[in-house]
Amino acid sequence: MKNSFLISFAWLVLFSACGQNTPKQTQAQKQQDLMSCGKPLDNQTNVANMEFSVKKSEEEWKKSLTEEQYRVLRLKGTERSFTGKLYKHKEKGVYTCAACGNELFKSDTKFESGTGWPSYFDVIPKSVVTSTDMSHGMVRTEVMCAKCGGHLGHVFDDGPNPTGMRYCINSVSMDFKKEEGKKTEEDKKKEEK
Ligand SMILES: [Zn+2]
Repeated sequence: MKNSFLISFAWLVLFSACGQNTPKQTQAQKQQDLMSCGKPLDNQTNVANMEFSVKKSEEEWKKSLTEEQYRVLRLKGTERSFTGKLYKHKEKGVYTCAACGNELFKSDTKFESGTGWPSYFDVIPKSVVTSTDMSHGMVRTEVMCAKCGGHLGHVFDDGPNPTGMRYCINSVSMDFKKEEGKKTEEDKKKEEK
C-alpha cells in the first residue's frame, strides 16, 4: 500500500515537472516563452517537397536507431526535459545528428537556457532546415537535419546575443564529437589575460 502511494506520488512529480520552465524564471519570462511559441520565424524552407541526401525506409530507420531516437527523430517526438544526456554537457566539440552524423552545432554556441533541453544560439551554416509546426495547438518553427530530415527540435527568437535565437534541441537526436587538443576562442582570450 505504501509502495503504491510512493509510485503514484513519483508519477505526479514527474508529470508536473514535464514541460515547465525553471523556478528561476519570472512570470513575465514564462509568458514571453509562450508568446514566442506562437510566432513562427521568417525565412522558412518549404520542406514538403525537399529531397534529403540521406534516405532510408522507415524499416531501415527503425533498425539503425534506438526506439527513443526513432520516436523523436522520425516521429517528431520530444524527450522529457532535464532527462537528456546532453543538456548539461559542456565539453568542447561538435554536436552531430544521431541519425546521419551531419555536424549541427558547435559547443561554443551552447548556452544554459533553463528549459532542460540542450540550447544553442547559432547553428552550423546549412546544417538544418526549418518548417512551420502547427502541432499541439501551437505555431512553432521546427528544426530538422538538412541531410536526413530527422526532427531535432524547435527554434525560437528569444535567445541571447549575438543572434537572439534559441535552438531548443532534443539530446536524443544528437551525438557529440569531442574536439581533441583544439583551443576555443574563449580559451585564447583567457590565456591572453
Ligand atoms: Zn541527419
